[in-house]
Amino acid sequence: MKSPTSRPGPEPAPPAPDTGAPPPLRTLAAPVRGRLALAAGLQAVAALAGVVPFIAVSLLADRLTDGASADALWPLVALACAAGLFALVCGTAAGALAHLADNDLQLALRRRLARHIGRLPLGRFTEKGTGEIKQAVHDDVSALHTLFAHTLLDVVAVLTAPVLALAYLFTVDWRLALLAVVPLALGVLLFRRAMSGAAAQMAEFGAAIGRISAAAVEFAAGIAVFKSFGRGRRAHERFVRATEGFADFFSGWVRATLVSSTAAVLVVTPAVVLLLLTLAGAVLVTRDGMPAARLVPFLLLGPAVAAPMGVVGPRVQQIRAGQAAAVRLTELLRAPTLPEPADPVLPDGHHVSMRGVSFSYDGRTDVLSGVDLDLVPGTVTALVGPSGSGKSTLASLLPRFHDVTAGTVTLGGADVRDIPATELYRRVGFVLQDVRLLRASVADNIRLGRPDATDEEVERCARAAHLHDRVLALPDGYATVLGSGVALSGGEAQRLSIARALLADAPVLVLDEATAYADPHSEALIQDALSALAAGRTLLVIAHRLSTIRSADRIVVLEDGRVTEQGRHDDLLAAGGRYAALWDAQRSPDDVREGSTR
Ligand code: ADP
Repeated sequence: MKSPTSRPGPEPAPPAPDTGAPPPLRTLAAPVRGRLALAAGLQAVAALAGVVPFIAVSLLADRLTDGASADALWPLVALACAAGLFALVCGTAAGALAHLADNDLQLALRRRLARHIGRLPLGRFTEKGTGEIKQAVHDDVSALHTLFAHTLLDVVAVLTAPVLALAYLFTVDWRLALLAVVPLALGVLLFRRAMSGAAAQMAEFGAAIGRISAAAVEFAAGIAVFKSFGRGRRAHERFVRATEGFADFFSGWVRATLVSSTAAVLVVTPAVVLLLLTLAGAVLVTRDGMPAARLVPFLLLGPAVAAPMGVVGPRVQQIRAGQAAAVRLTELLRAPTLPEPADPVLPDGHHVSMRGVSFSYDGRTDVLSGVDLDLVPGTVTALVGPSGSGKSTLASLLPRFHDVTAGTVTLGGADVRDIPATELYRRVGFVLQDVRLLRASVADNIRLGRPDATDEEVERCARAAHLHDRVLALPDGYATVLGSGVALSGGEAQRLSIARALLADAPVLVLDEATAYADPHSEALIQDALSALAAGRTLLVIAHRLSTIRSADRIVVLEDGRVTEQGRHDDLLAAGGRYAALWDAQRSPDDVREGSTR
């Protein structure tokens, strides 16, 4: 067997981007960059073509007032129609192209994420929960969709059209054209003033919302305690203070920026722009003798010049959201994966052996040090010890939630790191406290580890796990879909996970004994179900209550990450050591009253 020191750790993440590296957004979009650029180009052409009909109509007005013949007008009408049609075709093509490119990008990204997440150490999910996965696969990929399929084209359109519009207006009358830029310039100025200090205010906004959430959680969680001690008012004082604090902060912010932000929106509205241009135009027509028809292009295209102000604000938010999503996605895709063995080895038998096992979460403090442990096939080994002594961590090394920092964990003589993951999980199962049920039928939930199991096999395991009667009471029996209006209690979910483990039939099982059951009946059912599970298997139980593991073949006491005692219940009690002290501490008052001791 290879020496532990020669092993690679988790697969190193690709090098972090140096300062010159492209930002995550560009890297993620790289596979479809060409098509997105083409879509943006088409959209720009569409936006420019969209301005042409307005120019044509302006020219028509000019010629009509000059008394031009109908023949001279038709080419302009044709140009307006053709340009409008062309804009429509280009715009549609741009939208379709961007959506197709984004579709491919989403598919490739989600596949990459699924592949990568499948290779992450399972410990990551128990540590960080599954929220980040949902956020990445659903929310973040959707944020990229909004950005690439919609925002990109909107921004291109809104920035291109005004350029042509303004260029044309300058050819008509430079004074009015300059005036048409004034609302835009004013809008930008006012918007900047309204946004000054926004970063600090946004940080305070987030902090204030955080304070309300914390106070709300505390309020909800503590309400029973406060009420039962007759201090109902105290319970919501902090919540009320937090909401009042938020209201004060927010109204202060709004008051300070109200005038400038309202003015920024107001000055670029078409009504204001038209009013301004009409007034100035009227002066030019009456005083300077400017032909009235020259006002037409300004009335048609003037509002378009200021339009970007109204659109860019919200789009900036979408761009920021897309950038933040890309950063999170890139971080997840860089998370180190559990290395698959270069020279796979298959276990010979099911004897589990841990030798000199140490483990550290942070690379500095050892949570486990020098642990030796054997799990003999067909026996039950219980891990006991104070909270934080390392029981869950030790048990998690066998199904490779994490890999040891030093030492070895072997199954059937093979280092678990040399066993291909699929082979390892066929042999090592786990039943955790936090049971995950899928939004699928009860039968499919039980079948998870063996999708080809027959209905009879599913039912047999459900019976052994004392779940069968409960399932029959569900609206559709075994076909009832969980999570859609039908939910199981904590104890029932535990029994379902035991049925699942029974059906998967892994010869070695890691079991985190649930700490709390709703009622003694449920607890008795679970204990019975666990006995069924233990039969003929190698079991490693993380025991939280000593009463449930009295008959274990071996009890291992962990303290500060070290094995300090091991043996059978009676022997350990007789030894009068740490286990005896734990046992005395955990004996229930009922035991003491009834005089039942060991
Ligand atoms: P037990 O199961 O006996 O209560 P654990 O194995 O959960 O103990 O924890 C052992 C020690 O490791 C504790 O000090 C705990 O704070 C720490 N620990 C547990 N999980 C993590 C984690 N994911 N990251 C960092 N430290 C952890």
